[in-house]
Amino acid sequence: MKLVFGASLLLLAACSVPAPVTPAAAPLRGEGQGPVAAPLPDPHLSAGDIREIADLIAETQRVIGLPAFERNLRAVEAEFGLIRQSRAGRELSAAMIADLYAGRDPRYRFRPVMVGWNSSESTSITREGGTILLATNVRDRWRLGTVRSRALAINSLAHEFAHTLSRGPAEANIDFVFTDGGSLLGWFSRRAPVATYTIGTVAQCTFLEEQMALRGSLFDCMRRYGLSSFRTYGDDG
Ligand SMILES: [Zn+2]
Repeated sequence: MKLVFGASLLLLAACSVPAPVTPAAAPLRGEGQGPVAAPLPDPHLSAGDIREIADLIAETQRVIGLPAFERNLRAVEAEFGLIRQSRAGRELSAAMIADLYAGRDPRYRFRPVMVGWNSSESTSITREGGTILLATNVRDRWRLGTVRSRALAINSLAHEFAHTLSRGPAEANIDFVFTDGGSLLGWFSRRAPVATYTIGTVAQCTFLEEQMALRGSLFDCMRRYGLSSFRTYGDDG
């Protein structure tokens, strides 16, 4: 977590977003299709790295495709309230967030992305190339291989996937419908669920629920790991 002060006083951006450069050629996903990703063809990555990234992508997509994921995402609203598009963004119903993340809203599409390991402790995502570089701590959590450490890595990738939703088929770049930042006003209401963090934590808790590894209730899990920020509670080994 770090503080980013931009024109609109962005706060608590979990992953850095470089400025747009050039449009990407990759086609958008169709209606009713969720996030899509493949390992980044990076010559610095070993065959083992590529396999690990492919496994993390596959497992994250499996979890967000579970009926329990959508059920748990829809359950957020009754317990925690409406979900913000960003810290300063509109409040949306959990049902609307679920529709958007499943690709069911015809006004929005997912930009295919490539996923690699970053060489630093920060995760970044680029608009133009649709590339997600996951922080070394995410790699280490996935590599550690415990249920709880893997759940954290799934949270991170499900969160990043939320950033790849774009407006309309004419939009060539990822345009970040869901963002982590927001205004000063958003900061004061920071306890309200934020879409990206909520999606990540619901994926994490759905995985823990499936693996019979929840400590307390599902809502306890969501509270613990955060719906408006990301907390690891030392579960990363
Ligand atoms: Zn983010």
